[in-house]
Amino acid sequence: MIVELVCVGTELLLGNIVNTNAAYLAEMCARLGLSCYYQTVVGDNEERMRSVIRTAVDRSDVVILCGGLGPTEDDLTKEIAAEVMGKELYEDPHSKERIQAYMDNYLKTNPKMTLTANNWKQAMVPEGAIVLDNANGTAPGIIIEDGGKTVILLPGPPNELIPMFENQVYPYLREKQPEVIYSKMIKICGIGESMAETMIKDMIDAQTNPTIATYAKTGEVHLRITARAKDEKEAQKLIKPVVRELKVRFGTNIYTTDEKKTLEEAVLELLKEKELTLSTAESCTGGMLASRLINVPGASDVYKEGFITYSNKAKRKHLMVKKQTLKMYGAVSEKTAKEMAKGCCFNTGSDVSVAITGIAGPDGGTEEKPVGLVYIACCYKKEVYVQELRLNGNRMKIREQATVKALTLLRECILENFKKDSSSSFS
Ligand code: ATP
Ligand code: MG
Repeated sequence: MIVELVCVGTELLLGNIVNTNAAYLAEMCARLGLSCYYQTVVGDNEERMRSVIRTAVDRSDVVILCGGLGPTEDDLTKEIAAEVMGKELYEDPHSKERIQAYMDNYLKTNPKMTLTANNWKQAMVPEGAIVLDNANGTAPGIIIEDGGKTVILLPGPPNELIPMFENQVYPYLREKQPEVIYSKMIKICGIGESMAETMIKDMIDAQTNPTIATYAKTGEVHLRITARAKDEKEAQKLIKPVVRELKVRFGTNIYTTDEKKTLEEAVLELLKEKELTLSTAESCTGGMLASRLINVPGASDVYKEGFITYSNKAKRKHLMVKKQTLKMYGAVSEKTAKEMAKGCCFNTGSDVSVAITGIAGPDGGTEEKPVGLVYIACCYKKEVYVQELRLNGNRMKIREQATVKALTLLRECILENFKKDSSSSFS
């Protein structure tokens, strides 16, 4: 089944907002096993919208439209989609009632607002359409079916679109698919995307069913293995040997096969399993690592303390970094990173510590120490493992990558217990 996405909104064309709905919907469609050949963005212009929707309906089985379902004059998606599908609009009493209830509730907490007449425009639906209730807003979603074609209309705000898609559209599309689609996720750290792809190129080249898709996330690679079969059991059977082979190839670089688990969750679980406590010392990441760890419920079982030691003085005061070290090697150096990690362990009494120091830019780089130079260190049982990183990107990207690399280093240290490799050194 061929699906096509059409995102409506002049603000998308102007780059005022990022088209996150397209990325979300495309990923969901891939997960459903639908083939998506086209994605279009069109402004709030009647004529161009009509032409885009007509073309999409002609060449695809399912057209998903998002945005432009609101109450204002420029919200035209529904009217034009109905016209293209040859449907009249009528007032849906159920939607009217729901909008009234939603607005009553809203006005209770926002007494200065009033319900305007144009809100009722949102209760108008095309004849014969399936109406999707909006739990987080007024505009209902709509499914129009005719002549083997399906047009699905979704509200633009992601907090309305995502739950509506997940709870109502996903099951609807899944029903439509004659086959069952089943997928499994493998999450990898410590290996870049191109390297990961090279390691499984033969498998990707030979793939038919299941398929393997690789996604690069900051500092991580995610592999989605998707199979189609007549039922879920059959699909699982097809996926099993592929997952087994991937586990052989990526070994301990796989941190989870659980779709929902994050790297920080996996790291905290590992520390808990080994009964180890953790503290962190951060300079250029400014608490990003601590924040990611503390985002995980139950982190307090493992995580004790975090220092943001941005200045040299703070590094000396809280982490006992030697004055001499800072003077001779600088704040961004292997030696400083090591002393930060050691001092962190010592001062907190934690079993393990991780330290990060680097130049996030855009200023502060030199030929010898360019922007993106970051040292991360992990101290465990008084031994310190250090890694030098040369990262690319803007300040935020460098800080994000450093954070992921620190989590990865920490995980490696625990797992391999300081197994030496060529790019690392010990104190
Ligand atoms: P509303 O009732 O809020 O007007 P709508 O269905 O008419 O909703 P739009 O007016 O197109 O939707 O967009 C409303 C807001 O939703 C935008 O300002 C933007 O914040 C968000 N939005 C719309 N389209 C997208 C998109 N493709 N990706 C991410 N966010 C989007
Ligand atoms: Mg709108």
